Amino acid sequence: MKKSQVETIEKDLLKYCEQAIRGGATHAKPVHPGSVVTAPWVRLKCQFGCTGYGKGHCCPPSTPAYDQTRDILDAYESAILFHIEVPDMPKKEKYYRKYFDMLVGLEGEIFKDGYYKAFIFLSGPCRLCKKCTKLEGEDAPCNFLDRARPCMEACGMDVYQTARNNGFFIDTLRKKNETNNEYCLMLVD
Ligand code: SF4
Repeated sequence: MKKSQVETIEKDLLKYCEQAIRGGATHAKPVHPGSVVTAPWVRLKCQFGCTGYGKGHCCPPSTPAYDQTRDILDAYESAILFHIEVPDMPKKEKYYRKYFDMLVGLEGEIFKDGYYKAFIFLSGPCRLCKKCTKLEGEDAPCNFLDRARPCMEACGMDVYQTARNNGFFIDTLRKKNETNNEYCLMLVD
């Protein structure tokens, strides 16, 4: 890749980071996809211990397994990690929905800029519908096929180690009212 191309991509990545911060992200940082950790135990945490397992089109087992995700990540050169701090607050779900919608919109903007492989992984379960159509049966299609995206952990990414590898803070929580540190990943190529 020519130096001028590298400079353009670097400039664009910073532009997208600034756009995300204006849209509600606490931090956003260009990262190398190689710094994103995938691991087999992540699916285990979904399958045993999470009440959402099998209940959504964006949740396991409908999402890629960790090794498929590794292959996907390895097909990219550039990514952005988005961090949002979410304190305990009223209308928290609405706040999340607005933020995730901004990131899905940003994916579209990045695509239109020519990065045709752009893809966003969100955080937590899909929040677009009160009740996912998956509960109506395997063949019931998603209500928002154009907007629904899986989260990092649903695809076998170790979000804790990925955040720490890139200098971000994340820790396990003890109480529901503690501030959440959530991470989303945009693949940009
Ligand atoms: S958009 Fe609705 S139907 Fe589609 S995955 Fe999300 S909750 Fe389920």
